Amino acid sequence: MEAGDFKDFAKAMTDYIAEYLENIRDRQVVPSVKPGYLRPLVPEQAPEQPEPWTAVMADIERVVMTGVTHWHSPRFHAYFPTANSYPAIVADMLSGAIACIGFTWIASPACTELEVVMLDWLGQMLGLPEEFLARSGGEGGGVIQGTASEATLVALLGAKSRVMHRVREQHPDWTDSDILSKLVGYCNKQAHSSVERAGLLGGVKLRSLQPDGKRRLRADILRDAIREDKAKGLIPFYVVATLGTTSSCTFDALDELGDVCAEDDNLWLHVDAAYAGSAFICPEYRYLMKGVEKADSFNFNPHKWMLVNFDCSAMWLKQPRWIVDAFNVDPLYLKHDQQGSAPDYRHWQIPLGRRFRALKLWFVLRLYGVENLQKHIRKHIALAHLFEKLCLEDERFEIFEEVTMGLVCFKLKESNEVNEELLRTINGRGRIHLVPSKIDDVYFLRLAVCSRFTEEKDIQGSWEEVKASADEVLKKLKK
Ligand SMILES: *Cc1c(COP(=O)(O)O)cnc(C)c1O
Repeated sequence: MEAGDFKDFAKAMTDYIAEYLENIRDRQVVPSVKPGYLRPLVPEQAPEQPEPWTAVMADIERVVMTGVTHWHSPRFHAYFPTANSYPAIVADMLSGAIACIGFTWIASPACTELEVVMLDWLGQMLGLPEEFLARSGGEGGGVIQGTASEATLVALLGAKSRVMHRVREQHPDWTDSDILSKLVGYCNKQAHSSVERAGLLGGVKLRSLQPDGKRRLRADILRDAIREDKAKGLIPFYVVATLGTTSSCTFDALDELGDVCAEDDNLWLHVDAAYAGSAFICPEYRYLMKGVEKADSFNFNPHKWMLVNFDCSAMWLKQPRWIVDAFNVDPLYLKHDQQGSAPDYRHWQIPLGRRFRALKLWFVLRLYGVENLQKHIRKHIALAHLFEKLCLEDERFEIFEEVTMGLVCFKLKESNEVNEELLRTINGRGRIHLVPSKIDDVYFLRLAVCSRFTEEKDIQGSWEEVKASADEVLKKLKK
């Protein structure tokens, strides 16, 4: 096998990728394959002899694409978006070529240093307080985590190490397991499931609190819970504020929660803005993160809504030392002479290994510019409002939650069962793809504007599909 051969493969794949993305609109958004579809399409064993790359290329459509859900189709409206852009794909190619493992500074200085600077760029784009940024010359700084779920766990572990340190000093007679059994954290009942999971993984109690009528976690709710727990002898230590909940994209009252956390030194406030955080690059949406200066850590996913392919979850910490020092193990083979003068990111995360992900941010930020990224966000929000308008013009429908970002929560003014049937019908017709959610026993449909290719005509087309499905369901109902 000649290297030249593989170069041709790479070139052919580059063309295929462009072809795939440019024509993605024409593909069926969710494949109609059944579980187990793939095994009969490939041999039982790996080939003994090398195959020509053209054979692999020929199998992409036959084996892979027949079973792909096209997340970047304008007809895909499920979950939240996952980002995709050519600059990020190209950066991933370069990252794949360098293929370093940037766990310490010396393991690949550019990998660490570009990440430090990119998180400063990004933090400034969002208008984060200087205390979070490395450029301030203080303790704070940012790191790229794989996912928001990891960021929530890392923040919880930081909060845990800080509170353990303090309580040990106040109560030298208490054992660590005494203290651990008293720790309790809080989040909105509408917080992402990964928050509850962080509690389980971190071995601490985490309470999901019932939010207010607008599904926001407010100061009094948190204060009451803390008072109750303190009366029981528990030690509140961690609060997660969600900006843009997954179910319906509501925003906790961060400013108020920040005040509650300021009343007690032990409380670490973490902000999970996984999806909606990207919108803060537009100044007109920053009112939704009012109070961010009171947080200890802040996280959002450029890999959701900012055109940087998965995985790239940006996290900032005011005092990374609670994480860095807490889990610092220092075997000789990972020590180096420059230790301390630049972050060794292995201490800021759960895994040891890490890819050169800052390249994706660098390419995307430079090749789009802040201006075009803002345009992207504003366009998606405008498209969501267009769908909202179409929905409201049809008196059979209602909007379940105020539309603030690129998500529309809507339903027929009918029972849960009818709305379940509506979703089954929509997805069954196979032209668009949506997922539902349920809050306080009300079942509703979520339409997220996901693809960067989405235009008004696509949203209109999606609405036509919803309407036609509703016609079908309501007609059956009348019979
Ligand atoms: C999507 C989402 C997450 C999970 O993000 P991952 O990066 O996949 O872990 C967490 N929180 C919220 C609010 C989300 O919308």
